Amino acid sequence: MSRMGEKPLTDGERDLLIRLIEKGVKELKPTPRGGRIQYEGVEELYEEYESEKLHSLLESLADKGFLIVKEYDRVILCPKCGSIDVYSKYSCPRCHSMKVDRMELIEHPFCGYIGDKNSFIVDSKLICPNCKTELGPVDGKPPEDGSRRDYRIIGSSFECRKCGYRFERPQVVHTCNGCGALFNYRTARYEKIYSYEVPEEAAEILGLVPELRSILQPLESALAEHGYAVERNGRLIGMSGGEHTFNLVAQKEDRRIVVDISRRGEQRDIVSLLGKKMDVRPTSTVLIDMSGSNELSALGKVYDITVLNGRDLELREKFSNHLDEIENRDRVKRGGGKRGGER
Ligand SMILES: [Zn+2]
Ligand SMILES: [Zn+2]
Ligand SMILES: [Zn+2]
Repeated sequence: MSRMGEKPLTDGERDLLIRLIEKGVKELKPTPRGGRIQYEGVEELYEEYESEKLHSLLESLADKGFLIVKEYDRVILCPKCGSIDVYSKYSCPRCHSMKVDRMELIEHPFCGYIGDKNSFIVDSKLICPNCKTELGPVDGKPPEDGSRRDYRIIGSSFECRKCGYRFERPQVVHTCNGCGALFNYRTARYEKIYSYEVPEEAAEILGLVPELRSILQPLESALAEHGYAVERNGRLIGMSGGEHTFNLVAQKEDRRIVVDISRRGEQRDIVSLLGKKMDVRPTSTVLIDMSGSNELSALGKVYDITVLNGRDLELREKFSNHLDEIENRDRVKRGGGKRGGER
């Protein structure tokens, strides 16, 4: 697989990728629809693009490393029309007729007779054709008169109604619901289908989101102004002994601030940050949400994580205000002596 950005994208590929990113599509899963494989969640793209065209664009994006390909499933397709709306039938291995019935073989141990279940059925009862003993109702429930159900089902086999041939294993024939073609495992189109994942970095490489450093820089300078020593991709050891990495770790005396960036505003980003925060116990935990949605900020309040909108033009100012608040909070705490234990 080639690396993203090595080969330039055509306009068509680029347009499609931007559409996917803007729609927030993370993964395209193949699913059968109308006899064809379609990708879920992008239905309206099928109205815009011919499905062949759409699929070939997805393939070429994957070739160039802009989509991550994963093997998803295998499907049987009609060799004539390519439909996946295919069902299966059994046929006779000798004459290839599809008038094939399954027989259940019943043994009546008392007289030793073995025969097809159908030959035992008289009205709705099973009666041994050989010795005429009644063996109970067809559905197999114990007979009402309390007599024993003394027969065994010893297996099943198939019988061709056309040529009379009996066999254990029928041939499997596929039938296309679209064009009616009949085919078998040898002539079927049998293909792998793939899912596509939109990698997180795609948006950045296409220039749809500011690069990481252009987000981090103003935050770093605000921290420096407030007297913090800042480390990018800083690592901290938590109470558990585990090591955690943050986009920024800032330290000033006993105050420690950690900052992470969520590119897509996904809940798992804030949950993962919460886990690290609980282990590392910083003075303040900040999440910069680049998605522009408000979803994470409500969770932030619950988790005591300050969520700032990364697209906000006043991000630096708001972050700086947050740092001021930390200073003030500390001053009040120390000045008011609420904790009382200051040594
Ligand atoms: Zn036959
Ligand atoms: Zn019998
Ligand atoms: Zn067909």
